[in-house]
Amino acid sequence: MIDKSEASFVQSLCMGQILEELIVPFPEVRKAEKETLEQVLAAVDQLLAGREKEFREWDVKGEMPAAFLEELRSFGLFGLIVPEEFGGMGFGTMAYSRVLQQIARHDGSVALTVGAHSSIGMRGLLLFGTDEQKRRWLPKLATGEMIAAFCLTEPGAGSDAAAVRTTAVRDGNDWILNGEKLWITNGGIAQFYTVFAKTPAPGDGGKAQMTAFVVTSDLPGVSHGPHEDKMGIRASNTTTVRFEDVRLSGDHVLGGVGKGFKAAMKILNSGRTGLGGGCVGGMKALLGLSTKQAKERKQFGRPISDFGLIKQKVGQMTVDAYAAESVVTMVSGLIDQGYQDYAVEAAISKVFATEALWRGADEALQIAGGNGYMREYPYEKVVRDARINRIFEGTNDILRLFIALSAVNRAAAQLKDVASSMKGVLHDPIKGFGVLSDYALKQASIRTGLVGEKRGFTLLHPALKSHAEQFEEQSREVAWAADRLLRRHGKAIVDKQFALRRLADILVDLFVLAATLSRVHAAVEAKGEAGAAQELEIVRVLSRDVRSRVRGNLRRIDVNEDETVKSVADAAFEREGFGWDVL
Ligand SMILES: Cc1cc2nc3c(=O)[nH]c(=O)nc-3n(C[C@H](O)[C@H](O)[C@H](O)COP(=O)(O)OP(=O)(O)OC[C@H]3O[C@@H](n4cnc5c(N)ncnc54)[C@H](O)[C@@H]3O)c2cc1C
Repeated sequence: MIDKSEASFVQSLCMGQILEELIVPFPEVRKAEKETLEQVLAAVDQLLAGREKEFREWDVKGEMPAAFLEELRSFGLFGLIVPEEFGGMGFGTMAYSRVLQQIARHDGSVALTVGAHSSIGMRGLLLFGTDEQKRRWLPKLATGEMIAAFCLTEPGAGSDAAAVRTTAVRDGNDWILNGEKLWITNGGIAQFYTVFAKTPAPGDGGKAQMTAFVVTSDLPGVSHGPHEDKMGIRASNTTTVRFEDVRLSGDHVLGGVGKGFKAAMKILNSGRTGLGGGCVGGMKALLGLSTKQAKERKQFGRPISDFGLIKQKVGQMTVDAYAAESVVTMVSGLIDQGYQDYAVEAAISKVFATEALWRGADEALQIAGGNGYMREYPYEKVVRDARINRIFEGTNDILRLFIALSAVNRAAAQLKDVASSMKGVLHDPIKGFGVLSDYALKQASIRTGLVGEKRGFTLLHPALKSHAEQFEEQSREVAWAADRLLRRHGKAIVDKQFALRRLADILVDLFVLAATLSRVHAAVEAKGEAGAAQELEIVRVLSRDVRSRVRGNLRRIDVNEDETVKSVADAAFEREGFGWDVL
């Protein structure tokens, strides 16, 4: 029986275990939601289809008209995840992610405006709000009378979110909030802000803690800066938000004093499949554009869709889109089924989907050739819009460190003493890294090395046998690799970013493959091998790519030129530039 409070497919892989029951069967949208979801998807198309010219104009202007926000409100798109009792649609994670996919097929800025509101802006209220807080704000958030924003980033606190300098100090029963937040999506159009501030620790001399607050725009001292002039998603509103002696009553604290850092991470984790869904929508839209473009464009007397290099791009885009949709849906399904420890899997879905969209946008532009570079065509806008996804809601670099360190942490945490020394070290990799005791280290290496008890796939269809076997073999190898890393680097592993990146890339590949295998298994079960022939081809291509990438990464964990690369980089830092010229 799987313990939903701590089961994690990816973290178990590093212990040589395949928790098949977590990912098979492939999750489906809840029956009760399906009909409403289909209606909402149709409404989204009704609202957004055929408006490319307007999206283009708003992109150039860098502004979304207020009248359009009104349309979003009237279609109920701000109430997607608000429970029905508070006037929303009460969608679960999978249905919500699917709606964002549909919106993103039309425009990235619209998807972000809706997504920042639900995925992160008001998510804290849903997760940690008291009944009274929910009654007070959720009805207005559901209708869009209040739009929400998530205020964490500051000039000195980006990836290092714990470094925020916004403060909230007690004044009687109230709090006084001061500080400035940077690059806040919906910052200039929101009425509801989830704000993270440093608050004094209880007692004298304690280390300041972080606390989350609800701040509404009508409070004296709340203001925002002008809309930022951005590379992409230009119509989505991004501003600074400033708090000057803002007086907050005690009932504005969200989730408890001192609980803010964990709350911020939990909000970001649970919102990640929204962003992933948006990326999948972008990829599907690109495939529609690229296939038509390539069939229409003739060169050398033939449509360019006849040429192998074009087929290679469209084939890869299709495999990427299928795999991204599989992994995003898998993570959404895990969340909907009540699994609690999905942070690593959610990070993987964000990393894979955002990078798959980026590759797809680049290839789609290439297929369009010179037209792709022209503003009258949609491709350059998609490229600009897609770039931000790898930066916000945790940069993909930081998420890779998080994925690898969390996985290693779980491997070591099998032993009690290892757990006690590792817990604080790797639990919040974003916050800071600590140390492993030598004893714990030895135990961890022996233990993880010996946890070879093989538990492979038993539920997958025989048509997937060879891919399943490859997965099992490579998952054993990754467990050994994690063990070697622990043994070799000990407490210094936290700084071995070259190695951690490789480990993360392996885990990304393996989890994406596992999610895709599960989906194709469901397709074969439903339609038979002949009916699912195309899905079988897709998983075959993915499986081959994963095999060679994982092999390469495993090999380079042991044999690499990392020190040489560092030396080359250090020399570049020293001279602050490139040191050669052919003249
Ligand atoms: C359009 C836009 C919208 C945004 N919306 C919001 C919002 O609504 N709410 C909000 O709070 N924030 C928002 N952000 C902020 C966003 O989340 C941050 O930009 C992001 O977290 C990265 O922080 P940073 O830009 O300060 O980069 P930095 O943290 O300075 O990082 C710079 C580079 O260094 C790398 N790096 C940093 N630390 C390490 C390390 N330890 N090891 C290896 N590499 C490292 C990073 O991966 C990155 O490549 C938004 C940003 C943009 C551009």
